[in-house]
Amino acid sequence: MQIFNTLSRQKEDFHSIERGEVKIYSCGPTVYDYPHIGNLRAFIFSDTLRRAFEFLGFHVIQVVNITDVGHLVSDENEGEDKMEKAAKREKKDPFQIARYYEDEFRKNLKAFNIKTPHVLPRATEHIEAQINLIQKLFKNGYAYILDDGVYFDVSKFEKYGQLSRQDLEEKQSGARVKVRDQKHNPEDFALWKFLVGENTNHIMQWDSPWKNTDGVSKGFPGWHIECSAMSMQYLGKTFDIHTGGVDHIPVHHENEIAQSEGATGQKFVNYWMHNNFLQIDGGKMSKSKGNAYTLQEIVKKEFLPLDFRYFCLSAHYRAKLNFTWEALEGAHNAMKKLNDKIVKLKNSVEKKQENPKLYQTYLEKFQKAIEDDLNTPQAMAVLWDSLKDSKLSNNEKLNLVLRFDQVLGLGLREITDERIEQEIPAKITELAEKREEMRKNKKWAEADELRNQIFKQGYEVLDEERGYRVKEL
Ligand code: AMP
Ligand code: ZN
Repeated sequence: MQIFNTLSRQKEDFHSIERGEVKIYSCGPTVYDYPHIGNLRAFIFSDTLRRAFEFLGFHVIQVVNITDVGHLVSDENEGEDKMEKAAKREKKDPFQIARYYEDEFRKNLKAFNIKTPHVLPRATEHIEAQINLIQKLFKNGYAYILDDGVYFDVSKFEKYGQLSRQDLEEKQSGARVKVRDQKHNPEDFALWKFLVGENTNHIMQWDSPWKNTDGVSKGFPGWHIECSAMSMQYLGKTFDIHTGGVDHIPVHHENEIAQSEGATGQKFVNYWMHNNFLQIDGGKMSKSKGNAYTLQEIVKKEFLPLDFRYFCLSAHYRAKLNFTWEALEGAHNAMKKLNDKIVKLKNSVEKKQENPKLYQTYLEKFQKAIEDDLNTPQAMAVLWDSLKDSKLSNNEKLNLVLRFDQVLGLGLREITDERIEQEIPAKITELAEKREEMRKNKKWAEADELRNQIFKQGYEVLDEERGYRVKEL
């Protein structure tokens, strides 16, 4: 397997720490709202990565964190906690908000056929581990206390900036970095926030071993520390792969490295993998523009969640992907075609000579695509090629596609014979089409008469959300 490692900015051969085992940590959802399709791109990517390793015969352990405290609206050290803000918006307790949106996240996992991660740890249930990690940072000289919290001194960590390849000096002169008067360096980030200022009434709060000059010690963890604490707790001080969206490279992941390596003195992660952005109509998605679409909108527009998964896989994870409803329609049509083909293959009674050599060639081609830094568009091309190849038997085609789907996760094994549209005789389909036309023209009596005719010949027309379907009685 070759992996593009953000650390080295090149494709590298993958070597796991333990033979035959891969440990993956993927930054998970902040559970203050429904996941949007940008988040879903990230989750579908990390799931496909896990599936790819399983396909290649590795035993995988995947941890995905649930951020239920400490992620501030600014994505930096100031501002309100996203959880508390959502609690005010919905007039609920932040813990209720967290559990509600975690449930929604789990529903999304099911809908998009994302395998449940082996561990889904919540930040609020790992406060002690985070406090212990911060204590180690104090011991090793990286942490200091200010009025509003405990901070990490990035100038003490020599390799700070290695992931984003940003020079500290360069970064410090950058206009975007807000310089807080008290901080030792503009990039210093909060490890712990005290209940002061805008966070005085923060509902989620815990005791800490530290105090500011006013004697306040209660507070809550900074956003980044949870990922260091929980990944190392479940995967060890050094593990194989860490994933997330490219937006996390310059701050969140840079900080995770600094905290973890600052505490342990060991390399934190061997391979960093980042999915690129999902854009909408060529631009950034945003809640205010109303285009941060979710599962609900996909379903409301009568698409299937797996149409979106297909859409994601049709681009390489490191390429930007532009979402439009037309593009999703394209993915929907491709999925329909694929489903129909599979139903046909499943019901085929063809007795054709098998071609095991060719079968093997397709399997190898698919594996090669996957091993090339998870090249899913290439893998999908192999899938379509194999379906078109008349030298393969139907049975071989079906077996191939189902094996490919172990990686792609398009739910192809689950397709049932319910969808056998091809098996309906042409004269019945014709009647059904006519009936549909009558319905469109609001000629209800004629439409009913045609339905009767169809019924008498042993078939039933069902009107479903996505159009009609004909079924044998
Ligand atoms: P969050 O819930 O904000 O913590 O984000 C969860 C995951 O979604 C992270 O890995 C982000 O990097 C990723 N992400 C957020 N927005 C996008 C986007 N527009 N495209 C792709 N990934 C994204
Ligand atoms: Zn994280």
